[in-house]
Amino acid sequence: MIITILEGFNLSEVFELLGIFLAIILFLGFVVVLLALILGYFLVKRNKLLFPKLFLYIMDNFHSMLLRIYLLIGTEDTFYKMGIDFYNRYYQNRFDNAKRKVLILPHCLRDLKCPAKLGTNGIQCVFCKKCPLGDIIKVAKDNNYYVYIVPGSTFIKRILKEKRPDGVFGVSCYRDLFQGMNYLSRKNIAVQGQVLLKDGCICTTLDLEELLYKLKK
Ligand code: SF4
Repeated sequence: MIITILEGFNLSEVFELLGIFLAIILFLGFVVVLLALILGYFLVKRNKLLFPKLFLYIMDNFHSMLLRIYLLIGTEDTFYKMGIDFYNRYYQNRFDNAKRKVLILPHCLRDLKCPAKLGTNGIQCVFCKKCPLGDIIKVAKDNNYYVYIVPGSTFIKRILKEKRPDGVFGVSCYRDLFQGMNYLSRKNIAVQGQVLLKDGCICTTLDLEELLYKLKK
């Protein structure tokens, strides 16, 4: 159909149309980025969440493009920090009222001598007290969370399928946490997240007090 329409134009007119189309796309992209930067500025500097649904739409769907532009003025981690902060605020109330909550913990919090084995539901903690995960699991279960220590993101997809949660709390490094929250947000699941204090692939740390406080809320 497009070819039939284009047959009515000569070559220079076709290029002119393509140019206009490209200019419109670039302009829309520019507007989206500008809006996101303004909303992000108010969120980070003024502690205000403006036009939350619009920001959610932009963050959910255009985060890769935003990140590329944001890297001209900031770092990857500060971008993810802003995104995580936004998702936490946006979903806070819905998460608090969720009926089926899941807590997803990273296996890198384990001690190097962790005796737990990997099972179908992730790492099966035996509460040896060599790392904080045992205490976290107990508090989370007392507060009606399903808890998983996961070795990778494929586990998360399975957990969602099996448990069908309406609220997910994740702990991870900036990048993985943002990507996970973004994935869940696009599935319209109320999400909350806490960033690790020290990341890396082994012996990571977190603010335990803060996490336990949030789980008991
Ligand atoms: S508390 Fe659990 S997760 Fe931590 S080291 Fe012991 S068995 Fe492993």
